[in-house]
Amino acid sequence: MRVLITGGAGFIGSHLAEELINSGHQVMILDNLSTGRLENIKPLEKNPNFELVIDTILNENLMDKLVEKSDIIFHLAAAVGVELIVKKPLESLTTNIKGSEIVLEMAYRYHKKVLITSTSEIYGKNVNGPLKEDDDRILGSPLKTRWSYSTAKAVDEMLAYVYWKQRDVPSVIVRLFNTVGPRQTGTYGMVVPRFVEQAMINEPLTVYGTGKQSRCFIHVKDVVKTLVKLIGEPKAVGEVFNIGSQEEISIEQLAKEIIRVTKSRSRITYTSYEKAYEDGFEDMQRRVPDTSKINKLIGFKLTYTLPAIIEDIVNYLKTNKRS
Ligand code: UDP
Repeated sequence: MRVLITGGAGFIGSHLAEELINSGHQVMILDNLSTGRLENIKPLEKNPNFELVIDTILNENLMDKLVEKSDIIFHLAAAVGVELIVKKPLESLTTNIKGSEIVLEMAYRYHKKVLITSTSEIYGKNVNGPLKEDDDRILGSPLKTRWSYSTAKAVDEMLAYVYWKQRDVPSVIVRLFNTVGPRQTGTYGMVVPRFVEQAMINEPLTVYGTGKQSRCFIHVKDVVKTLVKLIGEPKAVGEVFNIGSQEEISIEQLAKEIIRVTKSRSRITYTSYEKAYEDGFEDMQRRVPDTSKINKLIGFKLTYTLPAIIEDIVNYLKTNKRS
């Protein structure tokens, strides 16, 4: 099949491109390189089944052409990362909402199957767990920039769902929970690459808040394998699925684990959210997915434990020095 990946030079997109090419598909990626990097797709550069287009998903004429010649679309292009969202809320709102609308409109025009990537941010401050796909969203004020990402992604989900309901666009929605692994950068706020890089140079690991807040981390390879399986499943159309690990760990414990695995001499420091992000910043205390829906449909099993994930990132950073 001919597959279009928007945001394909990004952290998850580049792993997905590799997975699809290894499974015998032709892959075209569209990326404006705002957060994506050419370095991520270097292993694919010379592959005859790979094509790169450097442009934005907001370019409607181009999107029309790319969607027309694709069989399926994985829509991953988005402004992500809490720090980036807090710093540039306007850009993240327009890319995430307008961009998805264009992708869905083109999928409608040419009747193509599309997978929309959403996020666990959807659930906001709902600390119940494990969270099921139809659980409530609990958000703070719309004027708190952190919630702009959750809101934009909720609009994306609604668009995908109604394009399916009203216009028959075969869309699948996935909510990704804290995906980590090689090629992820800490520049936009993600905790694991930051802590691993800090540990590798024996710098303090910067825990925000009390460190009692918890997350579940999943290796990107487990995610992309699942995405490829899911897009081939007809019963996934018109549905939303959580994808994530259920191995819950507090951020403080994560810092200790990273220090242990990397045999680092780093210590742990604590910084307030206000200092780390902005005044009035609200974090979510807990975020654990219920993955029974996807497990029932296609079988869902993780191959990487947290220590294995950390080791994989360390090996990557040792062989790929950042510029
Ligand atoms: N975090 C931290 N130190 C950092 C970066 C993040 O303690 O250098 C915390 C952050 O406040 C949050 C958790 O780690 O509680 C996960 O942050 P991330 O941005 O990776 O993911 P998300 O908040 O979107 O789950």
